Amino acid sequence: MQDLHGKVLISRQRIAERVAQLGQQITKDYAGRELLVVGILKGASIFMCDLIRAIDLPLQIDFMAVSSYGASTVSSGAVRILKDLDQSCKGKDVLIVEDIVDTGLTLQYLTEALMARGVRSLEVCCLLDKPSRRKSTVAPLYIGFTIPDAFIVGYGLDYAEKYRNLPDICQLPTEG
Ligand code: 5GP
Repeated sequence: MQDLHGKVLISRQRIAERVAQLGQQITKDYAGRELLVVGILKGASIFMCDLIRAIDLPLQIDFMAVSSYGASTVSSGAVRILKDLDQSCKGKDVLIVEDIVDTGLTLQYLTEALMARGVRSLEVCCLLDKPSRRKSTVAPLYIGFTIPDAFIVGYGLDYAEKYRNLPDICQLPTEG
């Protein structure tokens, strides 16, 4: 195992149960419609793969990559598109899948950018929500877990590109 001595905050069993519930809710809410599910790389990749298999609807997937924290645990506030959608989202029902909403600045930028492209509808499904650090008004419709202000790794989330493959969501131990 990797040299992480953090504590498990959310176990793989709880993640699986919650992902199944989110999939059912999204299936119900979008009944009769076709979804374009947009995963935000790289953090949402594992959540995205599990979530789309829990959604029983015709859907397409695409990915975007934006700049994030890099090797630090402190938000720079700067958001930049590193990889854009492969297809047009105009007139589509778009569901953004994000790993974690912290200040909300990334999500605010993304929602404004996609709205400006003329989507039919736009909602956000995030795995984790850290509302205590919010600096924007954007609010995801679907939230996996609301968590306190701690730095999280595992199930797709990294620290300096490590720990994404941990099956549980873990709290990174503070340094020093
Ligand atoms: P925001 O713009 O909401 O402040 O930050 C969103 C992005 O910051 C997330 O998509 C994620 O990449 C990164 N981030 C925020 N909090 C955490 C955290 O606790 N752990 C990890 N690994 N990334 C985080």
